[in-house]
Amino acid sequence: MSVAEQKLTYLTAAGRFDLCCPGECIRPLSAAHYVTYNRRAGGCGRMLKMLLNGTCAYDCGYCPVRLQREQVSFSPGEFADTFLRLWRDGLVEGLFLSSGIPRDVDLVMHDLVETGEILRRRGYDGYLHLKVLPGATRADIHDAARVADRISINLETTSPDRLGGIAGVKDYRQDILKRQAWVAEEKPGRHTTQLVIGAADETDAEVLACLADQYRRVRPSRVYFSAFRAMQGTPLASHPDTPAWRARRWYQADYLLRDYGVAADDLRVVLDEDGLFPNRDPKEVLAASQGPVNVNLASRRALLRVPGIGPKGADRILSCRKERPFSGPPDLVRAGIRGHAAGRHLTFGERGTVQTQLLLSSADSPGRGEGYRTFPNSVPTSAADR
Ligand code: SF4
Repeated sequence: MSVAEQKLTYLTAAGRFDLCCPGECIRPLSAAHYVTYNRRAGGCGRMLKMLLNGTCAYDCGYCPVRLQREQVSFSPGEFADTFLRLWRDGLVEGLFLSSGIPRDVDLVMHDLVETGEILRRRGYDGYLHLKVLPGATRADIHDAARVADRISINLETTSPDRLGGIAGVKDYRQDILKRQAWVAEEKPGRHTTQLVIGAADETDAEVLACLADQYRRVRPSRVYFSAFRAMQGTPLASHPDTPAWRARRWYQADYLLRDYGVAADDLRVVLDEDGLFPNRDPKEVLAASQGPVNVNLASRRALLRVPGIGPKGADRILSCRKERPFSGPPDLVRAGIRGHAAGRHLTFGERGTVQTQLLLSSADSPGRGEGYRTFPNSVPTSAADR
């Protein structure tokens, strides 16, 4: 194995803790077994994920990179040569590049940006995701945003106090939140972040408040969640692991917040008295707490809260019921809705009553649907819902 191959093996293994897609699976690349990559059907494909530097002088208690003593790193030019060979041979399609911080953060951030610039200059037109390091300068963030398709900075946890309990060097407000605001300005709609769920003993109520703040202030395109795993040799080695389901529940809850128009306040109903999620689909819990929804009268937003109905399904229901009201579960199946999941949260109402109300409401006020407020089985809705 060449020196470059040895470095690739080492630095891709070290880079596996940074997430770049939900539910990602890391596989060895069969044609070049020293390279691991992130293979996700329909997602980012053969994404090489790695660190430019495999050591770090920071002290994040959950992170194994800080324990590495072997100084393994690529210079920007050396890595660009290696990556371009893999890319031209068709072995990789995208790059997610992060780094440990073994020395001055500006120098390391500069190397990340320079790597991206060299790749672009030399004809690489594939996907490039660059990690923004805590404390990076505005100028480097600007350059990273210019050269990369996507950039990200990791929150790691929910607040300054929580971070202070697991990492002594990084300042949550200055090094992370301030830089994240710059990231959002430089790459609006094309930046992400990551939380290590459970590392700092934060509750799910705290995670929810943190996400609400994220979507209000900086609007990341995705938030990734990893369940904390204790690593031998780290200060958190004896800290209990976070069950994998808790991170999965957060992906589900995040969909509700981001894509389904559910307000963070509404999602609080899912939390128990300790501010923690139960191991149940939050959408199921939310739907059960709200009572059944009348499929013939509910607003799009109310339909989206029904398990088994996503944005496309809600649109199909709105379109189908203009032609003919739904009279039972078989109509749902015909509209492509998973009847068994949605059925128990839906009512269908009196066919004639619904038909009459739909006609009346469209005659009175096209598109408003006055019947929403009077039909007994429908979830109360407001103008804001529509
Ligand atoms: S900054 Fe913290 S999380 Fe990042 S590589 Fe260094 S020790 Fe690990």
